[in-house]
Amino acid sequence: MYVCGPTVDNLPHLGHGRFSLVWDVARRWFTFQGLRVHYVSNITDVDDKIIARANNESRSEVDVVKQYEHEWWEAMGRLGVAEPDEVPHATEYIPQMVELIASFLERDVAYRTSDGVYFDVSSVPDYGLLAGQPLDTLRAGARVEGNDEKRSPLDFALWKNAKPDEPRWPAPFGDGRPGWHTECVVMSLDLLGEDFDLHCGGLDLKFPHHENERAQAEAAHKAFARHWDHNGSVMVGGEKMSKSLGNFTSLTDLLESTDPRAYRLLVLRSHYRSPLEVTRDIIADAERGLARLDAFARRFDLPALAGERFEVASAHGWEEESLELYERVTTLMNDDLNTPAAVGELFEALSAANALADDSLLVPATRLAQSINVLFGAMGLALLAGGHVVDEESDRLVRERDRARSAKDWSEADRLRRALSERGWIVEDAASGTVIRRP
Ligand SMILES: [Zn+2]
Repeated sequence: MYVCGPTVDNLPHLGHGRFSLVWDVARRWFTFQGLRVHYVSNITDVDDKIIARANNESRSEVDVVKQYEHEWWEAMGRLGVAEPDEVPHATEYIPQMVELIASFLERDVAYRTSDGVYFDVSSVPDYGLLAGQPLDTLRAGARVEGNDEKRSPLDFALWKNAKPDEPRWPAPFGDGRPGWHTECVVMSLDLLGEDFDLHCGGLDLKFPHHENERAQAEAAHKAFARHWDHNGSVMVGGEKMSKSLGNFTSLTDLLESTDPRAYRLLVLRSHYRSPLEVTRDIIADAERGLARLDAFARRFDLPALAGERFEVASAHGWEEESLELYERVTTLMNDDLNTPAAVGELFEALSAANALADDSLLVPATRLAQSINVLFGAMGLALLAGGHVVDEESDRLVRERDRARSAKDWSEADRLRRALSERGWIVEDAASGTVIRRP
């Protein structure tokens, strides 16, 4: 499977977090079901936005890319997104892109203008297939741009001629850099071969990015992705909402202020194709759900699953109650990844296991608990019996509170205690200082 990765010009935002989690869950679930998955996800390391940032901040493009790619993998690590099998970088593939563009020019499916090379979308008879609209309709709705050398507003840049002081690569049709749509078609075909199974990305990529990738594969007479799949967007746009969210539009900020597993649970609780709303309340609700799961893991002394190696599938013998649960969850997950219903089943099973244990029926209770753990593990959500990871912000508040207490600033210490309880911690004063734990 090929998942369109980020352009590394900025900190990852919540939408990046969602698509990474959605396709991580899909990958893990396929693997859990016994499929072998070869997962490729690219990094776009040449782009207008990268050049713009480099210019604004008087640094090199390479420097910008280095910083934000580092931030990207940091965030992915925190989210528990398994590393792709391969991570192609656009700049590693420029000779292949040049070759493809040259062949398009030769066969007249592309043409040159004063600023680069464009693809002629009318050369692909079924252009608009992914958009679900014929070329005429798309053309009528297309934005008219300043560039009147383009034959159609839908034609897209394959190659951009270098302007002074921009990164450039040599090409027979003029030094410059590739357009974004050409990167992914070249890299996916190179690493996965023709006729690969699944091409994924956010809904915003369906048109024109994926349509344009597909058009190039068609024009090159290559069998491309058999299936396309897109995840819905993250809604943080409402005025009120973005105010209340503060810094949460940056994934990096969110991950500093909450347990990253809460975002995975939040993503799992909505269907991947639906829009996902993120508010403080929704995050707090996911945190409470996570606290329930961890308390459950403590009660039954469950090991943390969901590592990098996907070994959960064979780790479990399914019997009686657990087999029933397995079948219900599997049916839901195999029906277009119905994670909200599957997670609902798992939470119900959790109540059932607790009830069994309350009645001292420990054998079936434990069996059920282990199955719940395995199934959450298959979705990449690790239940942590060993207590909660203290996030950086909480850790900072604890240290601040200790300073306030030693300065005998009791009102400040109380304020910080309240701030910590608002974050779901029970705050205790030990001889060593402030100690926090989950309820
Ligand atoms: Zn792409």
